[in-house]
Amino acid sequence: MSGDDKDLFRKRILVTGGAGFLGSHLCERLLDAGQEVLCVDNYYTGRRSNIEHLLGNPRFEALRHDITSPLVVEVDEIYNLACPASPVHYQFDPVQTLKTCVHGSINMLGLAKRVKAKIFQASTSEVYGDPLVHPQPESYWGHVNTIGIRSCYDEGKRAAETLFFDYHRQHGVDIRVVRIFNTYGPRMHPKDGRVVSNVVIQALKGEDISIYGDGSQTRSFCYVDDLIDGFLSLMNQDKTIGPVNIGNPNEFTIKQLAELAIELTGSKSKLTYQPLPQDDPKQRQPDITRAREDLGWEPKIQLREGLGKTIAYFDRLLTERIAV
Ligand code: NAD
Ligand code: UDP
Ligand code: UDP
Repeated sequence: MSGDDKDLFRKRILVTGGAGFLGSHLCERLLDAGQEVLCVDNYYTGRRSNIEHLLGNPRFEALRHDITSPLVVEVDEIYNLACPASPVHYQFDPVQTLKTCVHGSINMLGLAKRVKAKIFQASTSEVYGDPLVHPQPESYWGHVNTIGIRSCYDEGKRAAETLFFDYHRQHGVDIRVVRIFNTYGPRMHPKDGRVVSNVVIQALKGEDISIYGDGSQTRSFCYVDDLIDGFLSLMNQDKTIGPVNIGNPNEFTIKQLAELAIELTGSKSKLTYQPLPQDDPKQRQPDITRAREDLGWEPKIQLREGLGKTIAYFDRLLTERIAV
């Protein structure tokens, strides 16, 4: 194919939240596939250092913008990832979190409707709340507190899903909705307060490991590269399907995760126990039957390998004394 032909097939893709943990990996993968990427971010939790290596690419453009305000651009596809994802970040300004989920989604859906772009929503396993069904299939409606400290995120993401499906039914917008389960890997924010970043940094520094509750609650951790494979595979489906769980079904207790981090870092850190936060889900594991059957997707990287790569990333941040 000549250079001119490649230009004809190249897509212009908007990634909101593109300077964040997941967004920066997605931008990188889309550029690797030859696409043109417009990264839109208000740098609330995103960092310029996450996209620094992409700035020299002529097919990459970064725009500082808050998606709660309208955005008029011409694009072929939209990945809507903008939203703080960790409890410490989304609870810092809960009203802004809800506005980002609701007003932000309305703006991105209005944009998709006008330019007839396919649009992808980063939803979350949090739509299942503290689940009463285990593992969670997409058909489960969830168990969510409407007025708790996690509600701004959980209910915001639920409302966003409703908006996506209503824009699809009412206006024919071509949508894709992924429900992401706990994901980890390089470029996680070192101060996001999440269990993977906390325990790895504490283990590397030889500090006490903070276990909330007795550490018997479970999560299923997906490595970022596997997750992005799932995103691309869902976006490239030829039609709208229901929401799809993407996550790694291998479930671990928080105590097991901490012990693995200690082992892999060779740390002398000891486990310490602190109170469990309000509404903290007791267990979480994706049922990925739909992803397996409809996308032919399943995760390839298991916790030991992925945690090793994540430890190497945090070790570099500590060595270079970057914001840790
Ligand atoms: P992140 O905080 O690293 O990235 C979110 C990005 O959105 C940041 O760069 C932030 O600055 C930007 N942002 C926030 N509000 C914005 C606004 N109003 N306008 C423009 N930009 C805004 O988090 P992440 O882990 O990369 O998560 C990305 C998406 O995936 C989020 O929508 C999150 O809810 C979803 N998700 C993530 C996980 C996970 O385990 N990481 C799990 C479930 C869902
Ligand atoms: N919107 C946007 N960019 C566009 C088109 C629309 O940000 O290119 C916003 C617009 O400001 C509006 C929202 O998307 O608030 C929803 O648009 P829609 O057309 O659905 O609704 P309406 O404009 O009729 O309120
Ligand atoms: N957690 C913990 N120690 C920490 C941070 C988190 O024990 O330093 C627990 C937290 O209470 C929860 C689990 O680990 O039960 C996962 O927390 P995270 O914030 O990573 O994700 P989420 O709760 O959103 O799934």
